[in-house]
Amino acid sequence: MTSMPLSVLMLGLVSWITGFGPFDVIADAPNSCCDCACRARYPSGGWQVYETKNFRLHYHSQEPRLADVAKLCEGSRNLLHRQWLDTDDSAAWSPKCDVFLYWNPADYVRSSGNSAETRGTSSMEVGLGKVWNRRIHLRVDQPGYVESVLPHELTHVVLADRFCNCQIPRWADEGIAMLSEPPARRQALDQLLRQTEASGATIPLRELLTAMRYPTDPGRAQLFFAQSVSFADYVVRQSSGTHLVRMIEAAQRGGYDFAVRNVFGIDGVNAMESNWRAWLASDSDSHDKGN
Ligand SMILES: [Zn+2]
Repeated sequence: MTSMPLSVLMLGLVSWITGFGPFDVIADAPNSCCDCACRARYPSGGWQVYETKNFRLHYHSQEPRLADVAKLCEGSRNLLHRQWLDTDDSAAWSPKCDVFLYWNPADYVRSSGNSAETRGTSSMEVGLGKVWNRRIHLRVDQPGYVESVLPHELTHVVLADRFCNCQIPRWADEGIAMLSEPPARRQALDQLLRQTEASGATIPLRELLTAMRYPTDPGRAQLFFAQSVSFADYVVRQSSGTHLVRMIEAAQRGGYDFAVRNVFGIDGVNAMESNWRAWLASDSDSHDKGN
């Protein structure tokens, strides 16, 4: 899940209120206190804070898997920048990304503004070509928060670095984020897509690509996610993640027909949809294995 209020004049607009005080100011100098990515540890506003080069991990009471979370955050940040944005991004994030780790689902719901079922959410404030605020809320009382949920939310945060003037389309934001999860997590969506494809009731590709919001009908929303991750997977396997992002940027300048011609040399969205559906029908086993 992600929420990204977008405006060129939106400073101060947030979708929720954290309810705790301002962060302590500390020097951002390498000061390792252990053999992980940690640079400093300190209490702040009722939280314990574990700080790395680009992240501040906040937690209450019982200590979660801080070293695992920190290493995944820093490692994935670099990997995702290379994989999708074709940048090494050696410059540190300013501001850092605040990651709030919750043992109590009620605390997660209250602070994130999302239902407990989401398990994780991210929110950014963007505008004027910059990300002004990065936050991830994560339930750590659930299994898989390091392996599945955190990589998904980190992907949303990294993508915002490129799409901080014009919001990334819904299909791409969720489709790309789901590709960061273990492939097994997509099996149910893949099955749904194949069943719906067989009945001819899938969402036309042009409608998917240009949708400004998710479908309100839960079944249709699931199909939207299934098609989004499938199409993103298809594009990446045919070319690369950076080509997919280039297509989105080109579409924001001149529409998707222009974008697929310009980036892939394919004759418009309808031709690309035919190719994707042929790929879907070609070899389901090889698609399911993931990468
Ligand atoms: Zn998401």
